[in-house]
Amino acid sequence: MRQTLVMGNWKLNGSKVMVSELISALKAPAAEAANVAVTVCPPVLFLAQAETELAGSNIALGAQDADVNTSGAFTGENSPAMYREFGVKYVLVGHSERRTLHGESDAMVAAKFAAVQEQQLVPVLCIGETLEQFEAGDTQSVVERQLQAVIEQCGIAALGKAVIAYEPVWAIGTGKTATPEIAQSVHSAIRAFLAKQDADVAAGVQILYGGSVKGDSAAGLFAMADIDGALVGGAALNADEFAAIIKAGA
Ligand code: PGA
Repeated sequence: MRQTLVMGNWKLNGSKVMVSELISALKAPAAEAANVAVTVCPPVLFLAQAETELAGSNIALGAQDADVNTSGAFTGENSPAMYREFGVKYVLVGHSERRTLHGESDAMVAAKFAAVQEQQLVPVLCIGETLEQFEAGDTQSVVERQLQAVIEQCGIAALGKAVIAYEPVWAIGTGKTATPEIAQSVHSAIRAFLAKQDADVAAGVQILYGGSVKGDSAAGLFAMADIDGALVGGAALNADEFAAIIKAGA
């Protein structure tokens, strides 16, 4: 059985006060939904504070990106080895905002995936098609290409120690959620694609849906056989909304 994972991606949002308030408001809903794995991914600057404030809770900590290097002359970067010191468990790689705004290629994303696993952290591989690709009927070929880049660099077994987040770019921050049926059809196609290479990896890997998930859309998504949770942006900044998504997974 795959555990439901509800992950909040705070993106470039937050302040010391907001980190405290949000974390303290999420502890009880996360404790009540003990069968749901809850994770928050604050901006790097707040990881230390979040680690301290999450102590004793069942909420895990994630980071939003990582450099491929462990240390060295890479101004402005943060490495998976450093995340480990702050109790980080998950690291997003290949979020569409990184791919689009920072020009991250499939090969770069695969290198980040490998760097995260080298530190025994869990990469959350974000994949998904743009609106143009969706309308052209290219969804499947796009997500397969994004997955294959990682499989080629890291091997199929590496996906057994990772999480996949399917996030159609046209649904991120737009208020347009894919219907549960559309999302399920892509999730099951992703699993079928992986199954051709390794049936156990395909059956075990958690595949999250992301893109404008809200409290009232979560239950319908989580009811689908191949949707194992959500990667949540905007709604993760509102304690009540995020708590409703956690509850929907319980
Ligand atoms: P959204 O973001 O929930 O605001 O659409 C999701 C994401 O980018 O991970």
